[in-house]
Amino acid sequence: MDNSIKKVDIIILGAGISGLTLGYHLHKKNRNFLVFDSNKTKGGNILTKISDDYVCENGPNTLLLNNQSIKNLISELDLEKEIIYPNTNNNKRFLIKNGKLIEIPRSIGEFLNSNILSLNAKIRVFIEIFFKKSVRNTSVYEFFKRRFGKEFHDKLIEPFLTGVYAGNSHNMSIKHVLNKIWKMEQEYGSIIIGFIKNKAGNKMPKSFNFKSGLSELTNKIYLKIKDKINFKSRITSISKVGNLYEITINNNTKYQCDKLISTIPAYALSEIIYDNKLAQTLKKVSYCPIHVIHVGLDKEKIKEDINGFGVLTKQSDKKNFLGIIFNSRIFPHVAPKGIDLITVMIGGTRQAELIKLDKELLFNKILKDVRQLISYEGEVLMRNEFTWKRGIPQYDLNHESVISGVENFLIKNKNFHILGNYINGISVSDCVEKAWFLSEKL
Ligand SMILES: Cc1cc2nc3c(=O)[nH]c(=O)nc-3n(C[C@H](O)[C@H](O)[C@H](O)COP(=O)(O)OP(=O)(O)OC[C@H]3O[C@@H](n4cnc5c(N)ncnc54)[C@H](O)[C@@H]3O)c2cc1C
Repeated sequence: MDNSIKKVDIIILGAGISGLTLGYHLHKKNRNFLVFDSNKTKGGNILTKISDDYVCENGPNTLLLNNQSIKNLISELDLEKEIIYPNTNNNKRFLIKNGKLIEIPRSIGEFLNSNILSLNAKIRVFIEIFFKKSVRNTSVYEFFKRRFGKEFHDKLIEPFLTGVYAGNSHNMSIKHVLNKIWKMEQEYGSIIIGFIKNKAGNKMPKSFNFKSGLSELTNKIYLKIKDKINFKSRITSISKVGNLYEITINNNTKYQCDKLISTIPAYALSEIIYDNKLAQTLKKVSYCPIHVIHVGLDKEKIKEDINGFGVLTKQSDKKNFLGIIFNSRIFPHVAPKGIDLITVMIGGTRQAELIKLDKELLFNKILKDVRQLISYEGEVLMRNEFTWKRGIPQYDLNHESVISGVENFLIKNKNFHILGNYINGISVSDCVEKAWFLSEKL
């Protein structure tokens, strides 16, 4: 072997939550590994910015305690005491109707009483139990339109998916985006019956954050494995040399390893992988852009009742944003006293063009929408912005072929593994779980 090529047992590409979690579990097992990330810091999409007593999340805003891996990770890192749960007095969620905030019903009783849906649409919802199960995977739009009616989709499902994926429900695959709902339909023939049999409504997982923001999680992992992480290390190529994998960093340094784990985004891996078929498969994964604006507003001058998580929009609302999070109403400590911190999300597949606007112009457009919606005439007391050019991967109708393309590659390339948010779950807790599963196998 060329002496200038360094050798290590395991290499992890990417120091987002997937790569960090995997590294942490390997560290516990005393394994010989290194992590490389092109960025100058850790965390990937998890990016908290703290300044002047504001805690702003440029990436995810809350995580879900919905699997044992995330619970264990938090407990092992001694972070349980840092967890904060949303203020339960303010846990409403809003939609927009006739330009005004309207509360999303949280129970069957509230649903029947609310005027979000017309009477016909409400009746149509309960007919769902008579529809046969789907014979094949479809778009989220087709699925809900057939089972619950178009109005139910347009007024409730579309805004919800905008909040999570910022995508287009006409292209999203029901089987992969809402896998639990899909499985329920396949098992019980009806979502309503599935919910009743599983008492699913009672099992909603808890959302949470940490006192100093979500970067507390990635910072804590970093402290455990910092000797193993190399920043400003862009992988510029990956090749196979006999049974080993060879990576080149910044077109210069080379490393070889027995096991290689990629946690970098699909588009990034597609540019450097030696296998053209996998590269073509990965190029099918589209990512939508997200622009995030944080503003601090004078609490007293907000005239609407915004005591809740936030508001989600649908296309017909014709707003320049996808959703707003009323951060300081759910986590009061994230803004100075008397000030409300709110986060506005813009872009997604619906508004990708808006993100290309001059930032000042875009900010003014958004501010105008926000002022109108929450009846605010005061000053902007703080402003922070961040753009994710390729923010959230979309699980589109071609997703099955992405999965099989990746699986075929992995079968032929023993000891190569692929993690990350573009397969098997997008949320941070999904990424943590997948990394833990893999660490058990390695
Ligand atoms: C705006 C936004 C809001 C979100 N909201 C939520 C939420 O509320 N709750 C939730 O659970 N999830 C949310 N998500 C999703 C979640 O944050 C991500 O799915 C998750 O953090 C992805 O982690 P990862 O480690 O798989 O990938 P990433 O965080 O993307 O990390 C990949 C790493 O790879 C590095 N990299 C890329 N190319 C190379 C290369 N060639 N060489 C070396 N390194 C490279 C990058 O620098 C990066 O650090 C949100 C995402 C975004 C963008």
